Amino acid sequence: MSDTLQKFMFDHSLVRGELVELSEAWQHVQQRRSYPAPVNALLGEMMAAAALLSANLKFNGTIIMQIHGDGPVKLLVVECDASLQLRATAKLSDGATVADDADLQQLVNLHGHGRFAITLDPADKLPGQQPYQGIVALDGDSVATVIENYMMRSEQLDTRLWLAADAGVARGLLLQKLPSDGGKPVAGEDADAWNRTVTLASTLGREELLSTSIMTLLERLYWEETVRVFEPRHPAFHCNCSREKVGNMLRLLGRAEVDDALAELGKLEIDCDFCGQHYAFDKVDCMQLFSTDSVAEAVQPPGRQQH
Ligand SMILES: [Zn+2]
Repeated sequence: MSDTLQKFMFDHSLVRGELVELSEAWQHVQQRRSYPAPVNALLGEMMAAAALLSANLKFNGTIIMQIHGDGPVKLLVVECDASLQLRATAKLSDGATVADDADLQQLVNLHGHGRFAITLDPADKLPGQQPYQGIVALDGDSVATVIENYMMRSEQLDTRLWLAADAGVARGLLLQKLPSDGGKPVAGEDADAWNRTVTLASTLGREELLSTSIMTLLERLYWEETVRVFEPRHPAFHCNCSREKVGNMLRLLGRAEVDDALAELGKLEIDCDFCGQHYAFDKVDCMQLFSTDSVAEAVQPPGRQQH
């Protein structure tokens, strides 16, 4: 069973929905790091949410979802591009301990300073164009609630989310009420569809969401509705890190800082937080970084480099 995202619509209504299940992509993230169970669940839920939003926003670029925590968890990051390629990672505070039953507030908003951010980074940026970023407080007891509030505030769209993740799978359901044209009722519209479909989805418990495939969930929840399903899509893990990007980061750090680190360590070794890929820059590599205009040229793999 491959990872799947299924869009659907209810006939004669302005309600659309999406279901996603991530297994392989989610395993990929967990292979490299093991997180305490509540952190793992939170990261998996964010991954499901990022895929749902990405497929929903029709935005050609990458959605970056971040939680900056002020508790035992410092950072959670999930990125998803328009072709539903995902990567995710989490960082805990040094020496952090996480209780098995820690909730969202205890994990990332212990002192009320936690923040949730969504960045929309366009694939084809115009010169000087900055990615759009929206930041909200971490109000609520679940990441689903935080995102629902965010969508209401930034997109003025009624959105409901049900998310769950364990070590095996991350699953999510999204329902959204599309705005009617100029607020006018649409002829033949089933005006009660939103309330009805949300009420039905609200019967969904965490265990059921974790143990039931998305197509079964769709049938089970909405067997009395006329549901139109679209061509399924297939999210996958992908990390777009590269030697060039690491080189760019080192250039941004600046020559003085890089020289200091080289003097201390002999060479710089950087592991990608998302996929574990190892990058090493020795003195010659670093010299090239700062002596050419093009990082792409300076970071050519050894062998093609002209020292
Ligand atoms: Zn990577």
